[in-house]
Amino acid sequence: MLTSVNSGSAALKAPKKSMRSRAPLSPDQQLTANFKLSQSLQTTLDLNELLEMFLNHLQEIMQVSGLKYQHDSQELNIQLGGKGVHHCNYRLITPQNNLGEIIFNRSKRFNEAELTTLETLLGLLVYPLRNALQYREAVQKATQDPLTGTGNRVALDGALKRELLMAERYQQALSMLVIDIDLFKDINDKFGHSCGDDVIREVAHATVSVTRDTDMTFRYGGEEFVVILTKTAEDEALIIAERIREFIAMSHISSGGQKLSTSVSIGVSSLQSNDCVKDLFIRADRALYEAKKNGRNCVMVQAANNNNKKRKAPKAIIKA
Ligand code: GH3
Ligand code: MG
Ligand code: MG
Repeated sequence: MLTSVNSGSAALKAPKKSMRSRAPLSPDQQLTANFKLSQSLQTTLDLNELLEMFLNHLQEIMQVSGLKYQHDSQELNIQLGGKGVHHCNYRLITPQNNLGEIIFNRSKRFNEAELTTLETLLGLLVYPLRNALQYREAVQKATQDPLTGTGNRVALDGALKRELLMAERYQQALSMLVIDIDLFKDINDKFGHSCGDDVIREVAHATVSVTRDTDMTFRYGGEEFVVILTKTAEDEALIIAERIREFIAMSHISSGGQKLSTSVSIGVSSLQSNDCVKDLFIRADRALYEAKKNGRNCVMVQAANNNNKKRKAPKAIIKA
């Protein structure tokens, strides 16, 4: 069935805290506890919740400081609870799936009986874990734009609602950028759609690389992107927008053996009191429209009173 064991421990220094010893469960108690665990593990498809549930149960019956779960191809690295100098590792495998690796830590060596218990419990975790991973993959596919790897419209709608609520609840600033590639149709017409796709991908990557980890980039559609800037007021949003614009205008994109350059226009808006999600987008989109009217390759912001402010309007548009 499932686990390939690679257990072991490494004593680097003596444990700092003495550990409470736990009375071992009777076989009947163990059976009941396992049944309960098995039922609880089937109540969630959320990976973090599942692992937390598993760790909590484990900590009820044996001394475990924490666990680390990693799955390289899914770029998962989850650390729960504390750490310890002793560890045991298990690779979780079913005939069809590689489910990653789980590592248990504590400050005392694991004995044979404990390893046997761990292995029995891991047997209960494997299929709920597989379901949680499959669910995560399905959600990712439904919310990720396949061309750029950024979030899609579905993800944007969810993120915007969430961030607006958070900003209102904690009285924090929130800004939005709407980015549109300039004269993109010309790129498609001149170099073909495949080059056009490369340009869209590169603009997305450039935007993600120039923004902070806490900023969120989404492909709104076609050659348009939306960036949500959490805890960011208008002045800072303008600086970030300008950084993106400049970076893209200075970059060369390799595609089909050619070097292309392009530019973007960016509309900026910041949250005002009583704004709904739509207001924020409408203002940024209007500012984008003004940026296009003002010669492209520039950043514009539209305040709530509809006064447009142009931030920068260099001449460069498309050079291919
Ligand atoms: P502007 O500066 O005013 O934004 O001009 P534009 O040419 O960028 O704007 P327009 O809306 O006329 O052109 C957008 C083009 O993007 C039209 C559409 O065919 C193309 N497009 C939309 N989605 C994709 C895609 O996924 N790949 C490629 N290659 N082209 C796309
Ligand atoms: Mg467009
Ligand atoms: Mg465009």
